[in-house]
Amino acid sequence: MAGGDDTGYQPATRLVTSGRSGDFAGDVVNPPIWRASTHLYDNCAELRARKLHNEDGQFFYGRRGAPTQWALAEALTALEPGAAGTVLYPSGLAALVGALLAVLRSGDVLLLADNAYDPTRNAAMGLLKTFGVAHRFFDPLDPNAYEESFCERTRAVMLEVPGSLTMEVCDIPALARIAREKGAVSLVDNTWATALGFPALKHGCDIAITALTKHVGGHSDLMMGAASAGERWYRRLRLGAQQLGHVVSPDDAALALRGLRTMGVRLEKESATALAVAEWLHARDDVAHVLSPMLPGTPGHEIWQRDFTGGCGLFSFVIKGRDDAARCRLVDALELFGIGYSWGGFESLALPFDVEPIRSTMSWPKKDWGVEDRNAVRLSIGLEDKNDLIADLANGFAAMNEG
Ligand SMILES: *Cc1c(COP(=O)(O)O)cnc(C)c1O
Repeated sequence: MAGGDDTGYQPATRLVTSGRSGDFAGDVVNPPIWRASTHLYDNCAELRARKLHNEDGQFFYGRRGAPTQWALAEALTALEPGAAGTVLYPSGLAALVGALLAVLRSGDVLLLADNAYDPTRNAAMGLLKTFGVAHRFFDPLDPNAYEESFCERTRAVMLEVPGSLTMEVCDIPALARIAREKGAVSLVDNTWATALGFPALKHGCDIAITALTKHVGGHSDLMMGAASAGERWYRRLRLGAQQLGHVVSPDDAALALRGLRTMGVRLEKESATALAVAEWLHARDDVAHVLSPMLPGTPGHEIWQRDFTGGCGLFSFVIKGRDDAARCRLVDALELFGIGYSWGGFESLALPFDVEPIRSTMSWPKKDWGVEDRNAVRLSIGLEDKNDLIADLANGFAAMNEG
């Protein structure tokens, strides 16, 4: 299959052209949905010959994928400079854990960024531990402490940028370089920016993981994940996914491909609106902190400016000195923001979270924040009008302050 960025086109163009080769799409614009478990062979000789070649694009049996899924995988590979291939998984979490299982063995140690997505932490503390993989958390904002936390058995490093909920940006090129020097494989959860805003392999990571559920799907109607890598790790990922029996439905793959075509314009629009909303929140007396890589003040903002070519609509803010009941009055009063998990859809969402219990090694935010400032809300900004969203939030704050 065509790998990586070999067309010379800019990312915005690749979003439109990739994954649409005649092999997959025939003479129509979008690859058809191949609903299939069974591939029929002409004769016994062909059946046996096919079995020997475990290659992408070879329709062998439904679990190894079919043209709709390969079209999506190929499109994602074309968006990730340095990738030899992309493996699809039934959820973002399945991609994270599938990739970890593909690179780790019993006796290994995994270094895990302390601001990693909560279910990733849980997988390290649960499933991986039962398989004999130990883990250590590290503060991704402290490269020295990170370097010191390596030991002889450290096999892999799991990074995430920006950090879940608290949104810090770490120096991925520096952390990935250290991992390489120490002989460890670096994986990064790149769901926030996607390859469009942060080409992770180009910045030194070995495996780039994305929850397609978020920006790629973009319409809050599918679950899927992906991991892209250069030749060496791609082979491992693919074999690991095959052994775990991971496969995604062709219908969902077609939806993800449809979402991918408009992802660039959605991200641009959501980023611009999110920045306006973040600035509005920043100017309020009842907001203690706005946690957005795109806004000066959040740790790593300068690194974001250096390494990223884009952002998205996801960021958080911390309410100043109020209790949970006040926060609930704010969130419950919102009409345009749904209350719920996930993000990256066309509709805006709000999610309350408490900062304090979710970090074990990081001095930030603990060091810089008053104990009373722990009532946070994460916003996923969708495609609504900016002024309508700000007016909705103003109503929310009014409800909070009335109580
Ligand atoms: C949502 C999310 C995931 C997991 O994706 P699912 O498809 O929900 O399993 C992984 N990483 C980050 C940063 C996420 O926000």
